Amino acid sequence: MPTADRGPKHEVAVTTNEIKRIIIIGAGQAGGETAQRLRQAGFKGDITLIGEEPVAPYQRPPLSKAYLLGKLTMERLLLRPASMYAEENIAFLPSVKAVWIDRAGKKVRIEGGRELPYDALVLATGARPRRLPLVGADLDGVHLFRTAADADAIRPDFVAGKKLIVIGAGYIGLEVAAVARQLGLEVTVVETAVRPLARVTSPEVAGFFLDEHTRQGVRFVLGGQPALIKGKDRVTGVGLADGGELPADLVIAGIGVTPETTLAQHCGLAIDNGVVADAECRTSDPNIFAIGDCASRPMAHYENRIARLESVHNAVEGAKIVAGVLTGQKPHTVEAPWFWSDQYDLKLQIAGLFQGYDHVAFRGVMADRSFAAFYYKGDRLIAVDAVNRPGEYLGAKMLIQTGRSIPSNIIVDESKPMKELVASAR
Ligand code: NAP
Repeated sequence: MPTADRGPKHEVAVTTNEIKRIIIIGAGQAGGETAQRLRQAGFKGDITLIGEEPVAPYQRPPLSKAYLLGKLTMERLLLRPASMYAEENIAFLPSVKAVWIDRAGKKVRIEGGRELPYDALVLATGARPRRLPLVGADLDGVHLFRTAADADAIRPDFVAGKKLIVIGAGYIGLEVAAVARQLGLEVTVVETAVRPLARVTSPEVAGFFLDEHTRQGVRFVLGGQPALIKGKDRVTGVGLADGGELPADLVIAGIGVTPETTLAQHCGLAIDNGVVADAECRTSDPNIFAIGDCASRPMAHYENRIARLESVHNAVEGAKIVAGVLTGQKPHTVEAPWFWSDQYDLKLQIAGLFQGYDHVAFRGVMADRSFAAFYYKGDRLIAVDAVNRPGEYLGAKMLIQTGRSIPSNIIVDESKPMKELVASAR
């Protein structure tokens, strides 16, 4: 492994006209969108897109939903048909690992030793799923869930009657549990926290999803501490720290991700919960940009608070920003964050960032399986969780986007259509 290259002390950003060669490391949604948007924005120079996976950039969200359920093919997941990269003169290098960035020489080294020169470099290296720190985690039948290959490895075991233990009750855990129940597996979810979705939503909305899953037959071990994966060649169970044991035919761990910052770290870029980037997605080296799951950047709708978001919205936003900056276009309007999750017949749509809320107001009731939870900080609306309520989601998203609010005692009044409320908001 080469020693750390701290790079030139006073890097100068090359001007738009000087940029002839752009390299994008990472061919996920962020990297793929960047390549495409650079061409759409009229960039005529060389674009090289380097990806570790063997396939062209694809959407990951359906993997734990329709794809695992067998309702979507891989072709449908691709962002663009694979042939389009050649048609648009984008050098797409699948199954290739970038191993070193030489900032002083402005080159990227790939496995095998070849060096590729760049004028501007985009890091879209994503995140890696956390591995279970347990004895037995490498047994057959124990899976992480991030890539299409992960989903493909699981699908043959997703058959009625099998015993699945899901470790972690985040989006991955709950979406996978929902698919498994729909296919007739016996499902137990083990989560260290005392409630599911602790990182991503309020106790009230988490409680709703807990009840729904329980109603669908999922068993939960909350506050449970997996201590050991049991089995000889293949998993047979999960041992818990309290001495309990859960029998298993397969185990899926969805215990969060860590941003992939190895390359950035080795070449001396600033790192703080991901590669540190500014509002233009520029890192501490002005000729290197970082976007998507691997980067943290200021949030325009939240007093420029620095955050690292793991979402499609964030990947696309980063791609738009970088394509605009590198082609000298005027900055586009940054979109407020959004997310979604499908579980059973429930469509959860989220706009904004709920962290820091001090009260929540509900429009509609949970018992109807159609409601929206609006999160406020003081009198300001900062986020919404809308379950089977697209109108409330869109309305709240528009409000957050434009920095407007509706008082919480008025937003709950269902006699007033959401559209009307949004139109009158200040
Ligand atoms: P996540 O949202 O961070 O949830 C992981 C959960 O596992 C947390 O509740 C965590 O609790 C718990 N956990 C951690 N270590 C554990 C252990 N040893 N035993 C039991 N539980 C443990 O991450 P994820 O669900 O794995 O999702 C991975 C990534 O995919 C995220 O970026 C997520 O946003 C993304 N994703 C998004 C969607 C969507 O937006 N619909 C769907 C699927 C995936 P602590 O927080 O207490 O550690």
